[in-house]
Amino acid sequence: MKDSYGRDIRYMRLSITDRCNLRCFYCMPEGICPAEQQDVLSYEELMRICRVAVSLGITRFKVTGGEPLVRPGCMEFMQELKKMPGVEQVTLTTNGLLLEPLIPELLKAGIDGVNISLDTPDPEHYQQITGHDGEKVRKVKHSIMTCAAAGLKTKVNAVILSSCREGWTELAKLAEKGIDVRFIELMPIGTGACEEAPGYREVLEILRQQYPDLQPVREVRGNGPAEYWGCPSLKGRIGFIHAVSERFCESCNRVRITCTGSLKPCLCYEQGTELKGMLREGCSEEALKKTMEEAIREKPLAHCFDRQEGISERRTMNQIGG
Ligand code: SAM
Ligand code: SF4
Repeated sequence: MKDSYGRDIRYMRLSITDRCNLRCFYCMPEGICPAEQQDVLSYEELMRICRVAVSLGITRFKVTGGEPLVRPGCMEFMQELKKMPGVEQVTLTTNGLLLEPLIPELLKAGIDGVNISLDTPDPEHYQQITGHDGEKVRKVKHSIMTCAAAGLKTKVNAVILSSCREGWTELAKLAEKGIDVRFIELMPIGTGACEEAPGYREVLEILRQQYPDLQPVREVRGNGPAEYWGCPSLKGRIGFIHAVSERFCESCNRVRITCTGSLKPCLCYEQGTELKGMLREGCSEEALKKTMEEAIREKPLAHCFDRQEGISERRTMNQIGG
């Protein structure tokens, strides 16, 4: 469906849990309590939302969190969602720690892609960022390679942090093996607002020392707003998601469902439509559709990450789903 600014909304991010097995400082630092279990949407409730979303023209779904793979039943949920009539694409975003044993099932279910988050290849920096044993970074790197070798569409997402500078080129080298590597500017949401972070141009400058012929490529890859760059020595692409330094709201195609059932039309604002109450009061399919349709139509024109005082979102990224 189109929102009131004529943007075609066809992509939904579903945060199925706010729990996580890491504590990335910009997302879910130590001390953040997860939601009460009864406040988190059940898989049945999520499926109802997805069915209505499909009837509104949303055909692509990203399963996210928190860490989606810590929630029991995540695989079965994705399998069911993939089978839902009208669903064209189901992808997963994960930190990669629990991924490897599930790769055969993901393939069997026909999951369309996996994004694995890895900000740095360096164990010490990984530990500083995630609050967990730095040696785990090897497991994540192994998952990335196994996932790509198995034939699943694999992308790496790295949030741009100044402490990770020296690891950017090593991450970019994954693109030599055909894996897309996307560098994401740190967004001032939740604890992400407490950190000054470099913009994407700084990453580009460093990568150009290794790949002087990097050029922008005009390709649509996936659902996201990433701008892709390539060169002959890279089989994959380097992507930049520069929501902060260059906004791309005019082409935004997405809405989000938080783990507690708020339909969130823009990352920047707290404004959302609570669906959980109506779902639990046994609302009709038509009532749910009307509510979701109105919420999507009212999607704000643009974020205001450049004006701290305009950002009303107070939730942390693990609740929202990134
Ligand atoms: N746990 C999974 C993971 O890490 O991929 C899925 C959830 S996580 C919230 C989704 C994505 O959001 C990750 O790539 C993460 O790095 C990114 N993210 C979290 N906080 C962010 C922030 N403040 N700015 C930009 N990206 C952020
Ligand atoms: Fe967990 Fe992902 Fe947030 Fe890191 S970015 S704390 S892995 S939800």
